[in-house]
Amino acid sequence: MDYPDRFDVIVIGGGHAGTEAALASARMGCQTLLLTHNIETLGQMSCNPAIGGIGKSHLVKEIDALGGAMALATDQGGIQFRVLNARKGPAVRATRAQADRVRYKAAIRAMLENQPNLTLFQQAAGDLIVDGDTVRGVITETGIRFHGESVVLCTGTFLGGVIHIGLDRSRGGRAGDAPSNALAERLRALPFRVDRLKTGTPPRLDARSLDLSRLEEQPGDSPTPVMSYRGSQAMHPRQVSCHIAHTNERTHEIILANLERSPMYSGVIEGVGPRYCPSIEDKVHRFADKTSHQIFVEPEGLETHELYPNGISTSLPFDVQLQVVRSIEGMENAHITRPGYAIEYDFFDPRDLKHSLETKFIHNLFFAGQINGTTGYEEAGAQGLLAGLNAARRARELEAWWPRRDEAYLGVLVDDLITLGTKEPYRMFTSRAEYRLLLREDNADLRLTEAGRKLGLVDDRRWADFVAKREAIELEAARLDGLWVQPGSPAAAVIDEKLGKPLSREYRLSDLLKRPELTYADLAALPGIAGEAVTDPAVAEQVQIQAKYQGYIDRQQDEIDKLKRHEATPLPSDLDFSRVEGLSNEIRQKLEEARPATLAHASRISGVTPAAVSILLIHLKKRR
Ligand code: FAD
Repeated sequence: MDYPDRFDVIVIGGGHAGTEAALASARMGCQTLLLTHNIETLGQMSCNPAIGGIGKSHLVKEIDALGGAMALATDQGGIQFRVLNARKGPAVRATRAQADRVRYKAAIRAMLENQPNLTLFQQAAGDLIVDGDTVRGVITETGIRFHGESVVLCTGTFLGGVIHIGLDRSRGGRAGDAPSNALAERLRALPFRVDRLKTGTPPRLDARSLDLSRLEEQPGDSPTPVMSYRGSQAMHPRQVSCHIAHTNERTHEIILANLERSPMYSGVIEGVGPRYCPSIEDKVHRFADKTSHQIFVEPEGLETHELYPNGISTSLPFDVQLQVVRSIEGMENAHITRPGYAIEYDFFDPRDLKHSLETKFIHNLFFAGQINGTTGYEEAGAQGLLAGLNAARRARELEAWWPRRDEAYLGVLVDDLITLGTKEPYRMFTSRAEYRLLLREDNADLRLTEAGRKLGLVDDRRWADFVAKREAIELEAARLDGLWVQPGSPAAAVIDEKLGKPLSREYRLSDLLKRPELTYADLAALPGIAGEAVTDPAVAEQVQIQAKYQGYIDRQQDEIDKLKRHEATPLPSDLDFSRVEGLSNEIRQKLEEARPATLAHASRISGVTPAAVSILLIHLKKRR
């Protein structure tokens, strides 16, 4: 049958990409359908119930800055929060939360069910309605035809999914869920480049069968960090500790003795796995000189005894998994509640996408999430939001929007994917961003919320809070600029002690804040000044970071402005790229093949980095 209502946007798949896509489109006022296998699994975390971490929390906060759901659901479901790299610079600092998977899912579901303009429907999509080179809707596996202006595909690991435990194979989208085979076949018939990837998950353990007293306890941070700009500690449920365990030589012997029973080593699995989240058999095989690997033993929730042993993802047979687990100190009597497994699935070459995540071959069709070769909830959610907002803009015949590499990790993610493609599951790292000091997790709202407001993604309340925060930062920075400390004054006495030497002349507080020995809290506590200091820690943090890193931030901004100014600079047709010092051979070859006419053209060639463009610019200047 033809469903009687027509939608602006249809999203297929209610995982992390699909939920953000559907919410974004509906927030923008578009009539949106979220079609998913099972309403009970909306927002389900297939692997570890943890959100954030290095590079990933930047994405979560960017989603949040654009009005998305992930950070807020994390604050409602998070049972342990930590700031990673807390002692390093703000560019690489990252918030990570262990979530209660049931609470997280419930938070996402509540947001979806209460979102105006959003309709949920439970069924498998089996086919797309394609008219010439434009998608017009979706057909479910039972034959219901939904018509829409644009379609966003967010089917995760489900397309042609095959689950491996040892040498046993079964079809599945993840443990307990059927795969999407009809849709996978339909997509393979379209002109996209398709390949296989794999990922894996560890066995889950019953906490009552472990001796946690023999493991190192790892409590969360105090005060508890908050993930969302709209979040608060008051939203957090009860907080609990994680634990740290270690594999040992015996564990490694068991794994090595059974490698031929691993589907990866016996050649059964063809897909490439995540380099940065390898299975334990991979780690033991590749790093043969290491006698121990760390395992973070993380609770799956407050009302369950299940634990997630982060670090021993495996596809070895169950009997080997049990031996491996029981060889670990504190786990000698462990009971496995769910075996670990690996899954292989279809993904589409993201080089067949535009920056908006619309496909190049089929108009109005967008891809987001694991289907594009990424791994991780955060990478999926960020793409979902971008695809959802662009699907909505397409439905309204508006131009596509995406952030640049110097504006957001989301910009880096999409640019990397569509220009470089990926041969292995792609995950975000701070090292992928050229302008790390500008793209901090603490300033995602300052970078993106204004754009989000213009796009229609940010509601009035959030906008008012943001504007108030931005003003408070500006006012406080200006106030510090106008306050002076005189040598010999009571305030100077405090500063002299912190600096270990007396002030030689009068100083503005804004200049003193640049000194590594002094913090905003120190200045706020100075006699005669304390009364007027800001109390909002987010405002204080921003004022401090902006003062301390202003020099570096300005330098990065100059670099970006310089590149933008020189985009039209012509590249001489006789330019010999092999003589440009500092370029990698790969980039030289690409430039030689493409012979770009301008620096802007060069910068758009897949694999030509902003650093390479800078090198070209310097070379051109020397030639003159
Ligand atoms: P998913 O979260 O998979 O959601 C897909 C959704 O689409 C599901 O709700 C599904 O029911 C629905 N769907 C699929 N096909 C259809 C259809 N035809 N019709 C209707 N609905 C459909 N990430 C890491 O960062 N590190 C890891 O170590 C890691 N390990 C993993 C291990 C396993 C075994 C699995 C399965 C995943 C793992 N992940 C890991 C990946 C992480 O789960 C994904 O990156 C993330 O969930 C991707 O989000 P997504 O929205 O793209 O897809």
